[in-house]
Amino acid sequence: MIISSKGKKHLDGHKELTAHKEVLDLTNDKDVCEEIYVPVVAPNGKEMEVLVKEKDVVNVGTMLCKRLDFYVPVYSSVSGVVKGMKSMYNSALGKVCDHLVIENDFKYSEKLLKKVDYKETSKEELLELVKESGIVGLGGAGFPTYVKYSSDAKINSILVNGVECEPYLTTDYVTMKKEYSYLLEGCEILRKISEANEVVIAFKNNKKDLKELLDKELVNYPGIRVVEVKDKYPMGWEKALVKAVFKKNYDKLPSEVGVIVNNAQTIISVAKAIIDGEVISKRVITVSGDAVNPCNVLVPTFTLAKNILNKCGYLEEEVCVLAGGPMTSKANVSDEFCLQVNMGALTVMKKRKYDTLPCLGCGKCVENCPAGIQPIQIKKAFDNKDLKELEAFECSKCVECGMCSFVCPSKIELTDDIRRAKLYIRLSRSKEVK
Ligand code: SF4
Ligand code: SF4
Repeated sequence: MIISSKGKKHLDGHKELTAHKEVLDLTNDKDVCEEIYVPVVAPNGKEMEVLVKEKDVVNVGTMLCKRLDFYVPVYSSVSGVVKGMKSMYNSALGKVCDHLVIENDFKYSEKLLKKVDYKETSKEELLELVKESGIVGLGGAGFPTYVKYSSDAKINSILVNGVECEPYLTTDYVTMKKEYSYLLEGCEILRKISEANEVVIAFKNNKKDLKELLDKELVNYPGIRVVEVKDKYPMGWEKALVKAVFKKNYDKLPSEVGVIVNNAQTIISVAKAIIDGEVISKRVITVSGDAVNPCNVLVPTFTLAKNILNKCGYLEEEVCVLAGGPMTSKANVSDEFCLQVNMGALTVMKKRKYDTLPCLGCGKCVENCPAGIQPIQIKKAFDNKDLKELEAFECSKCVECGMCSFVCPSKIELTDDIRRAKLYIRLSRSKEVK
């Protein structure tokens, strides 16, 4: 069955650049992974508790720090020695912050978590193990996985998001194909924890090889089915996918309609943590766009972007580096940032200059906005710093998909302005509260 939903647009995905190339294993490349850099600030800007000090010896799986708002432990992805702390640019925060520096001894000695037979383990204990594994959403959001499964809401379905709708990205596709056994076992583990009736694995209808692979296995997993969705953007946005698959709308969280959505690689990581006691220590990263040698690479998490790009990314000319895909990511001011666990791509783009023209009033940004809001009106309200108008136009509903900027014939950077407007609202409101 192939399903679609309104408000999406087909984009040229350029996936052929990397989808069928062999993954380049850089985990033993001394130029790339000699050191890792672990930020000690959470993605929301809050400080973390640091649990190691200079000269400490660590293994893959040694807890380095933990978040203090939600309990989220952060583990080392290499074995070696703590060299100290370094202040450097953090792509997720868009500013400089402290990072632990770990020197890699390239032995990759592991400290495993507790591993269990999930069929013989209670759902409460499984949830506790997922919490201890520090797994966060690997599709980009980085939200702690156990929190989604800690609610009292009745869950009917787990929706596995393997859509990967951003142009250029193929990390989910490549990993799902290679690790499909873990994917299916991870689905079963999370089905047990949530007591959901079914798991639905969704991916694009042009992934016939993946469908064939999973179809063969699904005879052994009666609680899991696959669904193909149309190749439209942003079909991988949670709300769009839930609407497409279940024909249901929700306000804030999919659990309102009995659904939990997880990225496919997140589910694979859950299986590896429960069955093998492994933390997330390496990832397949798509290096694409205008990169010299577009490919998928396997690297330890927290590897420096610059080192990966020096291996397969850079052109002679001036470029922008995005930590993610071209629709949702911002250009970075530096390439000296680490790849955090929820970052699955580096997109290199040639710098292109174009003139911005006045708004033509064509309405394309409104027509193509999947959140159903009015990007140009929000931009005007933001230009006037009109807080009431910004709220009246429901600026906070923007999911920063980049579609309004992409379709605008006048090349107005609507998404950037809307991001700033959201921040402006947050800051204004927190000042009012203070
Ligand atoms: S970036 Fe925001 S406003 Fe623009 S199309 Fe996407 S959801 Fe709509
Ligand atoms: S798409 Fe661009 S030109 Fe058209 S209404 Fe929106 S902002 Fe104006």
